[in-house]
Order: sequence, then structure tokens, then C-alpha cells
Amino acid sequence: MSAYAPSNTIADKVLRRIRPLRNKREIAVNLDVPLVSISFDDFPVTAITHGSDIMEQYGWRGTFYTSAGLEGIDNHHGPHFTRDQLTALQKRGHEIAGHTLSHIDCSTLSETEVVAQIHKNKTMLQEMGITQTVDGFAYPFGAASAPLKKLLGEKFDAIRGVADGVHKTSADLNELKACGVYSSTIDSVIARIKALPVAPAWLILFTHDICDAPSAWGCTPAEFKRILDAVASTRADVLPVREAVHFLRDRHDQ
Ligand SMILES: [Zn+2]
Repeated sequence: MSAYAPSNTIADKVLRRIRPLRNKREIAVNLDVPLVSISFDDFPVTAITHGSDIMEQYGWRGTFYTSAGLEGIDNHHGPHFTRDQLTALQKRGHEIAGHTLSHIDCSTLSETEVVAQIHKNKTMLQEMGITQTVDGFAYPFGAASAPLKKLLGEKFDAIRGVADGVHKTSADLNELKACGVYSSTIDSVIARIKALPVAPAWLILFTHDICDAPSAWGCTPAEFKRILDAVASTRADVLPVREAVHFLRDRHDQ
């Protein structure tokens, strides 16, 4: 959901600029071939029908950052997932990760409230039939802070933000960089993907609704297909975020 906009004062901007330097949990990235993860936030039904269903034709699986409280709701991204769709995604090998219960800006909450939000989300996902460990998380609205990075870094293995970028030599597991796939960014995202084989890096993509008249935080089915074709042309390994982290750890341990 993006109708809500996080605070954006000059003080917030300064804090946002210095935040990446604080409470990092780094993992080495040293790749011979590009690594790409494709993720969906919240999430609307079209992220399945025009997103992961198409990814599966390429043999790929994705990561769904799920707010259980959005089950069945309808907003500017369209109708959201049902329980059956969620468990079907799990069955087909997709990662189900956390995104708070009610898709709330964690930087506006007390520590106790944040913990309650992520705990209730995990519990509800389990009640819906999710049996995999929910060890991934994405900050709703990308709203992170140094204290939040520390708090959530103790509760999740890999946490994604929305700060734009790719991981060339290292990745901060407390706030992974990502690249928004929106109609307005398609050409620049494709250029970035095409550059991956020259300097292999880990790129995490994310989007919301995928439909013919998408929101400002989504794209059309044709645009998403162009992204997938561009990724395929790089011969990248395409893995859900959780598996990508395991892959990087195993590489580093060798
Ligand atoms: Zn979200």
C-alpha cells in the first residue's frame, strides 16, 4: 500500500542518509554470474497471476512479503491474496516472508508495538497454513531506522528495504537494497539488468500490482515479461531472497 507517505522532513532525510552506516549485518557478495531475486510486496492477486505464475514458466520462484492483515482486501493495488492462493504459493516453492500484520510504518511505532506487529503477522500466517519459517522481512514503505535495523535484525535472517541499488561486494542483511519495478522505471531497470554480466552482482527486484492499468507502484504484464526476458538473457541465477542468502553464505564458506 502506498497511499500513505512516510515523514520526509530534512531531519528525516539526514537520518536516512546516515542510517545505512549503522547497525549493519553484512554478508560478502563475490559472484561470477549475476544473482537476481524477484519479490512482491503486500500483495495483490495480480502479483501471482501476472507475476509468479509467469516466473514459474522460466523455472523461477519469488519472495512474497506478506501482511496477513491485507488478506482479501481491495485497495489501489487491486484485490489481495486469499488463503488458498498463499498456501498454493508455498506449495510451489515460493518464499513467504513478513511485512507486519497491518502494513504499518514501523518507524511510527514503539518497540513493543513493532514486536507485536511482526509476531501477530507470523502467527496469522501460520494459522493460514504457512509452515515454512518466516525468516525474511521487508520494511513497509521502506521505513527503517537504526534502532529498527537492530531490533528486527535479531528476529529475521534477511530484511529488505527500498533503498535503490545492487550488491556488488557486500549486502546488509538488515536493510537489503532493492530496485522498484514500476511502469515509470522499466527502461532503467532493464538497463541495470543488462549491465549485470559485466559486473556480476546481486539484484533484488520488487513490485506490487501487475495489470493493464497499474498503480504508480506496479507495472503491466508486458513490462514484467520484458523484465523476466532481460533477466533470462543475463543467464543469472534467480532465487528467492532466502535461498540467495544461503547461496552467498555457502559460497563465502568455501
Ligand atoms: Zn508494502
